[in-house]
Amino acid sequence: MNDELSPTHAVIDLDEDYPEIREGVRRICADFLGAYWRKLDEMEAYPSEFVRAMTEAGYLSALIPEEYGGTGLPLRAAGVILEEVHAGGGNASATHAQMYTMGTVLRHGSEAQKRRYLPEIAAGRLRLQAFGVTEPTTGTDTTKLKTRAVRDGDSYVIDGQKIWTSRALYSDLMLLLARTTPLDEVRRKTEGLSVFLVDMRAAIGNGMTIRPIKAMINHNTTEVFFDGLRIPADSLIGEEGGGFRYILDGMNAERILVSHESLGDAKWFVRTASRYASERVVFDRPIGMNQGIQFPIARAYAQTQAAELMLRKAAALFEAGRPCGEEANLSKLLSSEAAWEAGEACMQTHGGFAYAREYDIERKWREARVQRTAPISTNLILAYIAEHVLGMPRSY
Ligand SMILES: Cc1cc2nc3c(=O)[nH]c(=O)nc-3n(C[C@H](O)[C@H](O)[C@H](O)COP(=O)(O)OP(=O)(O)OC[C@H]3O[C@@H](n4cnc5c(N)ncnc54)[C@H](O)[C@@H]3O)c2cc1C
Repeated sequence: MNDELSPTHAVIDLDEDYPEIREGVRRICADFLGAYWRKLDEMEAYPSEFVRAMTEAGYLSALIPEEYGGTGLPLRAAGVILEEVHAGGGNASATHAQMYTMGTVLRHGSEAQKRRYLPEIAAGRLRLQAFGVTEPTTGTDTTKLKTRAVRDGDSYVIDGQKIWTSRALYSDLMLLLARTTPLDEVRRKTEGLSVFLVDMRAAIGNGMTIRPIKAMINHNTTEVFFDGLRIPADSLIGEEGGGFRYILDGMNAERILVSHESLGDAKWFVRTASRYASERVVFDRPIGMNQGIQFPIARAYAQTQAAELMLRKAAALFEAGRPCGEEANLSKLLSSEAAWEAGEACMQTHGGFAYAREYDIERKWREARVQRTAPISTNLILAYIAEHVLGMPRSY
């Protein structure tokens, strides 16, 4: 190592890093091929067997420090796990939440909360996969959310509604963002929001109702209604009123992780498209001999490579403890667009067969699209870059 480098220099590994993790995830994914995901998709079912296999292999506790029972891996290693699932044709959305929703507890929870929850989450005995932020009437304008949590003795009483709360029916705990001080009583709109760790096992039927949403992709997503739900006061994470900052604290990590999923999708599309283009013979020659077929795939490959470089930069800066807001946002933008362009090339290359479910292309195409909307939409990323990187006036 070069002694002149500062302790916070960032190293980008340009090789295929974490080969053992990649190999291990590929081995698991070999038991969960396209037919498995197609069946779940048709039945709108939750991938319980896949989640169990990933938990037992220790991959979902990657970000939980060893002292709390996890494997304590770097963020990049966790990203590689998600990327490999997507690059193999699967979908990691049911596993990524168990991997990182606990980050808010880890960073801002009390020692007692960490000792109580993190080892159970690491072992997979406790599922923390539900994250309740988005609301139907306020959407991206998070600070205006209307769900209220009012302190009453040793409890908080919660009223309101969340939407798009994914996996709520398959989770034991929910990380919930609610307003504890009314908007017109705070100095800044980002104040007065608090984060709670809600035990859903006790809440369902006692003030919490969950209703599944029929959606374009199999994401097990729901609406959650709170009607006088009473939760213990010690469900509060960190300080009352500090919740918005706690959620923002986890954004770079979340963006870097979900970018790995898009990157995996992009790689799957490029590989699947180029293979088919070389094999499919029309007019007595492989369709891949036509530049109209090969150029979009080659272009998508170039976009994928560029997105991967930015992603590796973002992860390296994150690991070095350096600011990485710009790179995390650029990664999210570039990787979701690379996946989208690669998906489009793959669809076009397969002609009519792209629409046949058994090819998995239309499923992957639907799944890849969500990354342009959630967890953060492309417009809001562009707004971040315009304002925080390029110094232009805030647009909203
Ligand atoms: C499958 C799926 C799973 C999800 N899972 C979860 C979850 O588990 N937990 C959770 O809390 N949320 C979840 N979400 C919600 C997701 O985070 C939101 O859908 C997303 O943040 C956008 O919010 P919205 O849908 O309310 O769009 P809106 O806020 O209504 O915005 C609509 C469009 O307008 C654009 N827009 C809005 N304001 C501006 C502006 N000022 N400048 C430019 N463009 C603007 C947006 O970018 C978007 O394209 C999920 C969503 C989906 C689809």
